[in-house]
Amino acid sequence: MGQIIAIANQKGGVGKTTTAVNLSASLAAAEKRTLLVDMDPQANSCSGVGLDKGKQELTIYNALLGEVSAEEIVVHTDLKHLDILPANTDLIGAEIELVTAMARELKLQGVLSSIRDQYDYIIIDCPPSLGLLTVNALTAADAVLIPLQCEFYAMEGMSQLMNTIRLIQKELNPRLTIRGILLTMFDGRNNLSHQVSEGIRQHFNDLVFQVVIPRNVRLSEAPSHGLPVLLYDITSRGATAYLELAKEIIETGN
Ligand code: ADP
Ligand code: MG
Repeated sequence: MGQIIAIANQKGGVGKTTTAVNLSASLAAAEKRTLLVDMDPQANSCSGVGLDKGKQELTIYNALLGEVSAEEIVVHTDLKHLDILPANTDLIGAEIELVTAMARELKLQGVLSSIRDQYDYIIIDCPPSLGLLTVNALTAADAVLIPLQCEFYAMEGMSQLMNTIRLIQKELNPRLTIRGILLTMFDGRNNLSHQVSEGIRQHFNDLVFQVVIPRNVRLSEAPSHGLPVLLYDITSRGATAYLELAKEIIETGN
């Protein structure tokens, strides 16, 4: 049964989508059957794997509302072993429409239950909030991966995120573990990057992944070509780092 990993941090611009897309592609490149789930109305994970944003008629929104099954919305990408459950801006409405629904926090778990067996890994890209969509992702997940940008305010919001995780463990999903904290956009020439990453390692110890994602222009260029970085420039430091992350995740198992 596929391991479900949610990529979450309520701060925007910390590298959630970049991580979701490139970790998924790297797992697929290692021949792991991988499903990327776009839970962000901005649908940047969709464009990151080459889907035309806004062209998908049926999306995760329809599945969350119980109108269609996951099988009916899954899209195969150009990369062998990588599929995606797409999103679009309809998803903004789901936060409101689900408010009165029964067991509204369990909708994504229900959607994924029917296709979980077909994958080794299911990676969920969360929106930049701790609202109902992120709560659904954390309730469906076995583990959460938290990207932290190596900048001065990196830890801002972390206690709120940790509280949310604890609450979900207590009330909704006792299986949920913290799969790791991932340092992103690390700039080796910048003293602050070193100070911040050392501070985070001191505070969270073994929870921090060994691999660090460097600031790399190839990672920011690849989405405009609709490609994960390993198909855009396999020689880039960004591609190497995400392949390493996939390896670390595969090797450390559950
Ligand atoms: P989030 O999903 O958390 O909002 P994104 O993954 O969309 O964050 O990243 C925010 C911006 O930073 C995007 O323009 C992305 O291309 C860029 N970016 C992310 N990670 C890196 C990196 N390691 N090096 C350079 N640019 C990056
Ligand atoms: Mg994003």
